[in-house]
Amino acid sequence: MTHDDAARDQLLKEIAKCRSCRFCVDVCPTYQASQGVESYSAFGRLQIIKYLLNGTLAFDDALTYCLYSCLQCRRCEVMCKSKGQNLDVCELIGRGRRLLSGRLARGGTHAKR
Ligand code: SF4
Ligand code: SF4
Repeated sequence: MTHDDAARDQLLKEIAKCRSCRFCVDVCPTYQASQGVESYSAFGRLQIIKYLLNGTLAFDDALTYCLYSCLQCRRCEVMCKSKGQNLDVCELIGRGRRLLSGRLARGGTHAKR
């Protein structure tokens, strides 16, 4: 197993702790600015990262924009922790960006490559 594969598996394991409660959705400023597009919330971004990493989705401009439009403001994380879910949401999104951008830089449009 490569370092990249291990990092992917570890990130997927962390994302799997998300309980899909969606408490983080309404507080997200980019979700608010999008007038309710869940892909622009913390929950939506974690799902996008999961599906890109497990190969269910392939990169496109819209998904890339969803990931990189996160402001890293931590409002989602404060809400998640206040509800006892305790995910380091910003860190997970940041790890997803780094992992996926590395794969993109190596020329793949499909994150599993
Ligand atoms: S609040 Fe936390 S556990 Fe709930 S959906 Fe958002 S990231 Fe997942
Ligand atoms: S850190 Fe990103 S996902 Fe979380 S509330 Fe801020 S903009 Fe939304």
